[in-house]
Amino acid sequence: AFSVQMFCHFGVALMVSSLSNERAEVRLEKVAQTDTLTGVGNRRWAMSMLPARLPVGSAIAQLDLDHFKHINDRFGHAAGDRVLVATADALRHQLRDSDLLARMGGEEFLVYLPDASASAASAIAQRLCGAVQHIRLSELGEDIPVTVSIGLACVTSAGGTWADWLAAADRALYDAKRAGRNRVVTTHERAT
Ligand code: GH3
Ligand code: MG
Ligand code: MG
Repeated sequence: AFSVQMFCHFGVALMVSSLSNERAEVRLEKVAQTDTLTGVGNRRWAMSMLPARLPVGSAIAQLDLDHFKHINDRFGHAAGDRVLVATADALRHQLRDSDLLARMGGEEFLVYLPDASASAASAIAQRLCGAVQHIRLSELGEDIPVTVSIGLACVTSAGGTWADWLAAADRALYDAKRAGRNRVVTTHERAT
């Protein structure tokens, strides 16, 4: 009876330890996939979540804050960080749980809408742009002007990899910057 009891204790201890190891692994994985400043997913996570080929009826957007270098220079790096956090919050607030939001680095974000027609995606991108413009932050007794430019690629033809569509979104983003910033430029052409 004693050895049976010992065996049971050992078994329970083993179960508890493997459970807490699993929880530790889950926590570690979460840390590795999260952007520490904003709490949204990081680039590594985004790359791992995107399907190899984007399905028709999905959309991908590349977002880049406007004149962010000026914000840092004028209001300080800590204020710049607050802008990044507020931007991530504002974007997340406009999106569904099934949408993907990631900080790709610096002041660049990626949004992937797995199930959005071109017109729906365009409306969502406009909403994101508006939400960022309405962020109210101040520093040194002055309002910090926060706006974002968005390049949106609507997947209207089959066969492109996410990298093709992301490159298309990047080109549209470049056009949005050139056209004066604080706007959405949409493309349906994937880059090749
Ligand atoms: P544009 O409208 O053309 O995008 O101009 P920009 O000034 O936003 O573009 P640029 O790429 O020249 O500047 C990005 C700046 O972002 C430069 C860099 O110092 C700053 N930056 C990158 N990562 C961080 C960060 O984590 N925190 C802060 N505060 N600044 C960052
Ligand atoms: Mg940039
Ligand atoms: Mg920028």
